[in-house]
Amino acid sequence: ASLLDVSRTTTINAYRHLEHRGFVKTRVGSGTYVSDPLAEMGSERPGIPWPQLFIPYNQSPFSSILRELVANPLGLESISLGTGMPDPKLYPLKIFQSLMESELNALNLADLGYIPTEGYTPLRQTLAVYLRNKGINVTAENVMILSGAQQGLYLITKTILVPGDYVVVESPTYIGAIQQFQNAGARLLTLPCSEHFPLALLEDYLIRYRPKLLYLIPTFKNPSGRVIPEHQRRELLQLAARHRLVILEDDPYSELYYQDAPPPSLKALDNYDGVAYLGTFSKILFPGLRTGFIAANPSLINRLALEKQYVDLHSNNLTQWLVQLFLEQGNLSDHLAMVRKEYKKRRDTLVRVTQRLCGDNLTFLPPQGGFYLWCRLTKNTSSTKLLHEATKNGISFVPGQAFYPTLEGDQELRLCFATHDETVLIEGVKRLAKSFSQIHKK
Ligand code: PMP
Repeated sequence: ASLLDVSRTTTINAYRHLEHRGFVKTRVGSGTYVSDPLAEMGSERPGIPWPQLFIPYNQSPFSSILRELVANPLGLESISLGTGMPDPKLYPLKIFQSLMESELNALNLADLGYIPTEGYTPLRQTLAVYLRNKGINVTAENVMILSGAQQGLYLITKTILVPGDYVVVESPTYIGAIQQFQNAGARLLTLPCSEHFPLALLEDYLIRYRPKLLYLIPTFKNPSGRVIPEHQRRELLQLAARHRLVILEDDPYSELYYQDAPPPSLKALDNYDGVAYLGTFSKILFPGLRTGFIAANPSLINRLALEKQYVDLHSNNLTQWLVQLFLEQGNLSDHLAMVRKEYKKRRDTLVRVTQRLCGDNLTFLPPQGGFYLWCRLTKNTSSTKLLHEATKNGISFVPGQAFYPTLEGDQELRLCFATHDETVLIEGVKRLAKSFSQIHKK
């Protein structure tokens, strides 16, 4: 076709397309010129318009808060009660060191090559035994090793959800899960976290929206610390079975109890094979291991493994080997006993001191386990404003809004009592109390 056959709109669109891809540049009042990527290096508009290459990304307004809290540790003197970090002083490094020294010679070098995506077989077997001891009826083929539970959230999202799908979540819940689901274009239906699991509301959602997934942290929830009691777990599972509802149970904290052991997991009570169970060593050993796992129906495991292969082929096998030895040689129960004792003291201290110094400004339910004290501000105080003041005083926490898919939560905040010892916690709460008094003066 001759140029004259092409409509003006088509030509303009073509120019726009070329400009969008960075091949031409338009100068107002002058015309359109072929752009020279070499000449534009270092200029305001470099050769490749990178952001224009990116596919759409659904980012929630609070999605970057935790990243910022990790990436910008305030000065040396400041105290972060923000991130959910175990105390580095409690990491079982001596045991890992002695395992390295005594066992490395016996390591089969093939185990340091590429291994199956599902994980290092002895670790899968050991985890199956660990899970069976917790009443979860699985074998190694039900278990896949993950690079952290976070990867499980990603893989499940990637394999199950398409844009527009409904996912039921508690509200508040773990920010990293909210982000995954929202980024996949899922529509979130929320269940308020309270003393009673809102079964009737869930049933209503099931009938009206047919959600693909229910995401739950049944035990020592992040952030609220609450536990769903056993009879409510059983009722929930009955309802879920009737509706063939898939449940993703995220369980990083159940080993960290400071009174009685928590009720059995949903997976242990699951009699319709509808629960996929996520576990991790991040909170009970240390996050840098990046070792977690999922226990689920083998056909789900197979599909997740295909997807995981694209991401990282398999998780780091040196750490899988170490974690396997750590477990096999029976170190976990002593380590857990030690951290439970320590974190219980810290929980007690944070509860006591916060009540004493900030009791006029907030209320909370003392958690029976996990890492967090979830507080509600009483005087109409905004937690984001409080955080602004608090960081100036050298103390940080996570404002409540980060844990909601909606705009709720500005009168709540989460304090982590696991990272610091009692002296530091007390100093942190003093600084928080000072921030309250400053914000009220303004
Ligand atoms: N789920 C929950 C509820 C969490 O609190 C966390 C960590 N804060 C994760 C998943 C991610 O854990 P991992 O380090 O194993 O990826």
